[in-house]
Amino acid sequence: MTHPLDAADPLASYRDLFVGASSDLVYFDGNSLGRPLSATGPRLARFVEEEWGGRLIRGWDERWMSLPQEIGDELGRVTLGAAPGQTTIGDSTTVLLYKLMRAAVAARPGRTEIVIDRDNFPTDRYLAAGIAEECGLTLRWIDVSLDAGVTPDLLAAAVGPSTALVVLSHVAYRSSWLADAALLTRITHDAGALMLLDLCHSAGSVPVELDAWDVDLAVGCTYKYLNGGPGSPAFCYVAERHLSSLSQPIQGWLGSVDPFLMGPSYAPAAGIRRFVSGTPAVVGMLAMQDMISLVSSAGIDAVREKSVALTSYAISLGESVLAPLGVVLASPRADADRGGHVTFNHPLMREVTAALWQRDVIPDYRDPGGLRLGLSPLSTSFAEVERGIHLVAETLTDLAG
Ligand SMILES: *Cc1c(COP(=O)(O)O)cnc(C)c1O
Repeated sequence: MTHPLDAADPLASYRDLFVGASSDLVYFDGNSLGRPLSATGPRLARFVEEEWGGRLIRGWDERWMSLPQEIGDELGRVTLGAAPGQTTIGDSTTVLLYKLMRAAVAARPGRTEIVIDRDNFPTDRYLAAGIAEECGLTLRWIDVSLDAGVTPDLLAAAVGPSTALVVLSHVAYRSSWLADAALLTRITHDAGALMLLDLCHSAGSVPVELDAWDVDLAVGCTYKYLNGGPGSPAFCYVAERHLSSLSQPIQGWLGSVDPFLMGPSYAPAAGIRRFVSGTPAVVGMLAMQDMISLVSSAGIDAVREKSVALTSYAISLGESVLAPLGVVLASPRADADRGGHVTFNHPLMREVTAALWQRDVIPDYRDPGGLRLGLSPLSTSFAEVERGIHLVAETLTDLAG
């Protein structure tokens, strides 16, 4: 019998387009590694046969060299609120974060601080610490509550005339806190600093308006809500107004003005291509194209609407089924403050997660005691949420026994 919320969901049929949709497995980790689309297998096979196998080295001239910018523009249009020419695909999120952080601090000479919060994702914090050491800068930490995130007041208290760069996640990886990116960017700019937004947990699930919010720089993953597959290359955005002035630190030949001139020294390309370093991971960019077109056909606002419905359903079930077992919500309760996942805390959640994986129920565990449910909007059903949360309760009851 169809769950009444699935029956009323205008996007319900999209779930059938994903590999494994008909199995009983409950997948709550589409925010760490999205499911593949059924269209992706044939796309990869076609690429091997026709493009790689058929065009061979000619493929670079014909299509592959410009693919990172073409996909970047489409991603920008569908999910980032970014006009063409500002987004490209390449490298890992970590490497792109390094490139943009390093470029940003160099663009604010004389300013000595990078502002970042203590609960930002580890790679962001480690990179900021490394760059601070490399460039003789200081980190100014914002302390945040683990079930919330960076508020305008917290940021306003941390920035000032010494701030070169602010690095924040749009959606917090642990709590799901959805930052007010427009207001945080304004506060950053009022202090004369640049804003670098990490979009790993929002791209593809939460509408983003980089141009309208006046964000300077952004980076995000494509293997989470963009279903690009394990290790698919990340994306970066550099606002038009910075494209000719920022210099990135990994000056490779493919970001140079005329790579095939093979000249004696590096001069950066015009536009977003100057943030490319080496040969793009073309095979890794194939799968994300299927998901970008799916999000385009559903519309990011409708995707967000379903996302909010899924997370609020999970929270209400959590209240009735999990709270009596001592489980505490560790994500914002207000829909407007929450991204696409929900975290529930209990001291036994590490063991609960391990036991659930054995039973084909796949959430994520995040210290301390957090069971994280990532509800990828187009591939998750309400029935799946209901079944999964009841199995969390059952498993927790057994383990607490
Ligand atoms: C997943 C994630 C990353 C991952 O970076 P990789 O280089 O792809 O390993 C970085 N930042 C945030 C906020 C993330 O959620």
